[in-house]
Formats: sequence, C-alpha cells, structure tokens
Amino acid sequence: MADNKLYDLLGVPRNASDSEIRKNYRKLAKEYHPDKNPAAGDKFKEISFAYEVLTDPQKREIYDRHGLKGLQEGDSGFGAEDVFSHFFGGGSPFGGLFGGFGGGGMRGHRRGPRRGENTVHKLKVSLEDMYNGKVSKLQLSKNTICSACGGEGGPPGALQQCRTCSGRGVKVTITQLGPGMVQQMQSRCTDCDGEGEVINERDRCGMCHGRKVTPQIKLLEVHVDKGMKDEQRITFHGEGDQMPGVEPGDVIIVLQERPHEIFQRSGPDLMMKMTITLTEALCGFTRVIKHLDGRHLVLRHYAGSVLVPGCVRGVVGEGMPIYKNPFEKGDLYVRFEVDFPENYFTDEVKLKELEALLGGRPAAAPIPADSEEVNMTEYDHNESGPGGSRGGQYYDEDDDHHHMGGQHVQCAHQ
Ligand SMILES: [Zn+2]
Ligand SMILES: [Zn+2]
Repeated sequence: MADNKLYDLLGVPRNASDSEIRKNYRKLAKEYHPDKNPAAGDKFKEISFAYEVLTDPQKREIYDRHGLKGLQEGDSGFGAEDVFSHFFGGGSPFGGLFGGFGGGGMRGHRRGPRRGENTVHKLKVSLEDMYNGKVSKLQLSKNTICSACGGEGGPPGALQQCRTCSGRGVKVTITQLGPGMVQQMQSRCTDCDGEGEVINERDRCGMCHGRKVTPQIKLLEVHVDKGMKDEQRITFHGEGDQMPGVEPGDVIIVLQERPHEIFQRSGPDLMMKMTITLTEALCGFTRVIKHLDGRHLVLRHYAGSVLVPGCVRGVVGEGMPIYKNPFEKGDLYVRFEVDFPENYFTDEVKLKELEALLGGRPAAAPIPADSEEVNMTEYDHNESGPGGSRGGQYYDEDDDHHHMGGQHVQCAHQ
C-alpha cells in the first residue's frame, strides 16, 4: 500500500500540482503556526516537512516510490535524525505519531490537531426500552463546514490578516500608570474575534456570512441496547460541531432511566412490591403480572406455607437482560405486603374455629393479685413517638386480647 501520509497532511491528492501543494501549505501553515495556535503542537513541523519533501521533485519521487522509509534510508539529503524520529515516534515505522491521524485509532494524550469540545445530551429512556432494546432518533443542531465556501468564509483570497492585531488574535494594550510604570494587558482582539483573520463584508460567503460554518439538523440514531443502564454513555465520535482546522468533538448521549410504576432495578435484578390480603397470605393466591416485554407471568402461592409481611420471593431469570449478553437475565424479586382486615368478625364459634386452624393460643400467664386494669386506646405514631412525654397507653387488657398488631409498648403511668 502506498504511503500517503505527506499528501494527507497537506490535504492534497497524490497527483497534486506544485501550486496546489503550495497553496494548501500556506493555508495550513497559517492555521498551525505555533505563534497563533500553540495547542497544535508538532503539526506545524509536520506540515513544513511534508511541504519540503513534496515541492522537491527528487525527494517527492523517492517518497512516492518508497514512502517515508525510503526518504530515511535513501540519499535524500535528510541527515537530520530528529525529523525522522519525530515522524516515526522513535519506534516502529509509521506506528508512532501517524497512528493518531486516522481518527478511529488511539485517542491518547498525543498532541494532534486541536479538538473541539464534546457535547453531552441526556436521553430519557423507559425501563421497557432498556429491557427490550430500542433505536431512538435524536435530532440535533450542529455546525458543519459551510458547503458553499468550504469553510473559507468567502472566495479564495478573501481571508485577510486582521489589521488591528496583525493576525495574532490578541491585542496588547499598554497603559501608563505613572512615571516609568506601564501596565501591559493582553486581550482577545474584538475585530477578528481572536481569529487573526477577517473577511471584508462584501466578500463574505452568502451562505455562512463569513462564519465558515452553517447550522444543520442532524438525526442521530441512538441504539439503546438490551440491558443498558441509567447513566450509561453512548458516544458518537466526531459528531460534534465542525470548525475549519479543528477536529470535531464527540456527541455523548447519557441515558436517564425513567422510574417505573411497578419494577425497580437493582443491578441485573428487578424488584417489585405486591400487596396481598391476610387471607391470600394464609390460603394462597394466583396473581398475573405484566412483564416489561408484555408477557403475562402467573405468580402462584399455595395454601400451607404462610407469606409473612415483608417476605421476599424470587423468580429466577425474570430480571433485566445482561448488557451485551441479553440471553442471560437477572432475577425478579417480589416483596409481599400483607393487608390485615380492618373490621374483624366477632362470631364466637367462627373465632374458635379460626383459632383451632391457626394452631391455638399459648396459655395465658397468671395475673398477679395486685394487677391493675387499664384501657388501651388508639395510638398515633406521628403524634408522639415512644418515650415521648404523653405516649399512648398500650397494655394487655386481659388474656382475650388479640395479638393482631403484634406490638405492645408498655408506658409508664402518669
Ligand atoms: Zn460559507
Ligand atoms: Zn484581530
């Protein structure tokens, strides 16, 4: 495969004419000059090197035939080791610095072209969509290089160095503070907006009005895969705003899981609450729940084993699909709340039957002779907590007391 790096650096085709090469070089050199663009790092050196090679017929021929390696080995007049070590990154040929140019390659801390900022968008996703997977279309407005002027802002040659700042993008103001005392201040040039270049108003591109970029509506297809999580990020490399000479940043979509009415997520598992009656807890029940993919699951509890309030039962394999391995799933956990009947019947015979069914009651403790009878009243937790100054009174009235609530707090007498 032919080595095209030097042509790519100058943005010209392999068969580019001398004048094309010169023209592009001038443009790029201006853009990446270290004085103007210190962040561009070694880019300026590389451009200069490419220009030097490609404008020399002899060197260009060697490069065309043998690539960079040919220039290094051949008698090409490049004695300076540093130029090549710079290009080859000191290690394997082409593996060093050039690895960073492809875009899809390593994105390390290597100094490369200036990079635009990333744009972060939040996307609300239902739990159903995270379970089943979904492609969401997201409409974004982004700046793209103007198609009419190719990002030049006007016709060729319209771009001129800003006179106010002499192309440096910054203005230096010197203020005399007192005899022999001056204050020097640097500020962004307002005439060129720090760009160092201006375009005459009449020369400005009709489409972008000299701004070099135009806003465009872009439709992104966000693939919400099965098992994705809240706060998970989906990156669209290089889809950020475009600007001439700047590598566009990424568009990052951050998923926001919407709370679900029934299911809560806990890692790969799903949790849900189910309220059953005391009768169901004791005598069994059949309940149907609708899962996140629309399937109906039948939950059956058989009489004979008791579901106590707050107990949890699990259903293996009915949790969330695992991201990137969606055939594997977590588990579903159901936590039971038990509704006790509010008004209970008082039929003596039936109560005796029920008592017998539930296994009877322990024998009553003997009542000491000096006992006092007290009344139990309704107790509101919110009014005053246990230990409060006027706590409600809970007291076992007699041995016929129903231990339904299960709790009895003993309070001191007033
Ligand atoms: Zn334009
Ligand atoms: Zn200026």
